[in-house]
Amino acid sequence: MNLSRPPVPGKECGSCTLCCKLPAIAALNKPRGVWCSHALPGRGCGIYEERPGICRDFHCEWMVNAGLGPEWKPATCKFVIFMAPDGNLSVLADSGYPDAWRNPRYYPWLKTNAARMMEHNKLVVVLAGPDMIVILPNRDERLRVPEGHIVHVARTPTPAGIKYDVETRPAGATPA
Ligand code: SF4
Ligand code: SF4
Repeated sequence: MNLSRPPVPGKECGSCTLCCKLPAIAALNKPRGVWCSHALPGRGCGIYEERPGICRDFHCEWMVNAGLGPEWKPATCKFVIFMAPDGNLSVLADSGYPDAWRNPRYYPWLKTNAARMMEHNKLVVVLAGPDMIVILPNRDERLRVPEGHIVHVARTPTPAGIKYDVETRPAGATPA
């Protein structure tokens, strides 16, 4: 998560509490997509002074990225973006607005960053319910990732351009 990047001066959570719903938080035994039992939606945290360290340290991508304007604030765009520990840029979709990330206000930025990050073997992925959508430069691919597996994208140059093959493999498996 964005544990080391400080918030951009002037950006504040305000009434946005979406990161108390969308991410899974192991320290709170909270699954993805359900409100934390301590959350006061639209108002804040019911145990603010005693909230766990992961909550104190977490800042979504909007908070730490000066290039993302007010339309990207999660309370407005209806999804939360964060840099996951695996280095992939993850978009957490809200079940009530599962396709909000496809809005033309946001989609081109996600697509551009997907191409840029793929040069460094990192991905932009959308987590929507049980599915993952991998945003590729030439298409988006929806898949289910079994527990303990990771997503790998192989890039093969062809006369028609780069071919992308998406697969899941057990975490720690040796690449083929
Ligand atoms: S999702 Fe971002 S802006 Fe919203 S409460 Fe969490 S850190 Fe703050
Ligand atoms: S403990 Fe507080 S800050 Fe952390 S997820 Fe729950 S409501 Fe949000």
